[in-house]
Amino acid sequence: MDLNACELEIDLLCCGMRVPDDVVLDGARSISRTRAGLGSGLEITIPARSWLKDRLWVNVPVAEGFARRSPYVLTGSPREGYCIRDDRSGSRYQIGIPREPSWYSRLTSRGIPMNRIGVLQGTYLAIYVNRVCAFWTARPPRNCRFCTTGANVGEHEALDKAVSDVVETCRAARDESGVTFVHFNAGFQGSRGVQFAEPYLRAVKEEVGLLVGAQLAPERDFSRYDRLIDLGVDHVSFCLEFLDPEWFAKICPGKAEVLGQRLFLDSIEHCAAHMPKGAVSGEIIAGIEPIDQTIRAIDWITSVGAWPTVCIFRPTIGGDMEQWPPPGYADMRRVMVHVYEACRRHWLPIGAAPNIEVSLVVNPDDTVLLAPRTPEFYLYEAYRRAARLLARPLFAKRMRPRRRREPGGHGENPQRPGTLSGQPDHPAA
Ligand code: SF4
Repeated sequence: MDLNACELEIDLLCCGMRVPDDVVLDGARSISRTRAGLGSGLEITIPARSWLKDRLWVNVPVAEGFARRSPYVLTGSPREGYCIRDDRSGSRYQIGIPREPSWYSRLTSRGIPMNRIGVLQGTYLAIYVNRVCAFWTARPPRNCRFCTTGANVGEHEALDKAVSDVVETCRAARDESGVTFVHFNAGFQGSRGVQFAEPYLRAVKEEVGLLVGAQLAPERDFSRYDRLIDLGVDHVSFCLEFLDPEWFAKICPGKAEVLGQRLFLDSIEHCAAHMPKGAVSGEIIAGIEPIDQTIRAIDWITSVGAWPTVCIFRPTIGGDMEQWPPPGYADMRRVMVHVYEACRRHWLPIGAAPNIEVSLVVNPDDTVLLAPRTPEFYLYEAYRRAARLLARPLFAKRMRPRRRREPGGHGENPQRPGTLSGQPDHPAA
């Protein structure tokens, strides 16, 4: 039997896809190894054919060893359209391949190609804003084992991004790609991650007006989050990764030694208590620690009013875990069914924000396609629909720029001569 769109999304993230040499991908978004490396696949869309969802966005692994052995193979052309064939069953799935926006190759006023500042991952703009994570620069390195940030920042994306680079790229993405949300992440920067990110946040809110998310390493002084909230941040997320303390320490040695797992939990809890429901998320990776722990992590995250962003583990090229096997479909489907159930139980308004489709993960609202049709399901779906409608004016207001651009442009990040003078004050081990 054919898979539905969410099941196909899950299986593609687990198996990857082969792209034969004779399949032409003219105009497709180029594969970009930025940030932690999770977006290193081919961006596609899958029609959902459901009243619950229009289409799903997926960044499908195509280059990794496991992807080259995948049962899924891409067929078609820009003219005929594209299909994915499953060689196990012969099933064929029609898909879309989004075009690369023209602003990718345009230069910022400092002469940097905009796709070295930010890239689209689904429908949102992803920007790594700070210096290389200090866990990578520590000797010996204490980086998270699945991550390739240290190989990407400065190589596949600009090392130093001025505020003006970020503002100009955000503006192009908003005007030409209809982007509504920009996501800043930053790795570990000592106790100055929030401070470094603030000038970008302020400038985008003032001059562009997108919704802004920040994914920063947790800091012990929680008043810094209160300040981010005052500055207008719309979403914060923390990369908890694993609930099992032993797996957390084994895979994320820098985080475990320097920050401690408890700080991630406390930061999620603090922000969830001070921000609107649905504005905080906890990121976890499924497919490394035992599945029961992943399920427990989802339960804990939703219990404090945050929602779970669940990444299906991708053994990315160049990462320490490149040779690890990707997880299996049955386990990942079980996890995603649980995501929906947990969000439903806690009345989280998943999918309420406009036009935010993340291609790297199974979005919580994608999992609606896995849910059994019970009375509770219909009640929750009615609630989600009402939440979407009621939230529209609020999001429209939050997406308005706070002031017009002034002659002479915007200030640079005060931390950055040219761009950045500060080094992390905590050298991570
Ligand atoms: S904190 Fe871990 S996942 Fe994040 S950038 Fe640093 S090494 Fe990578």
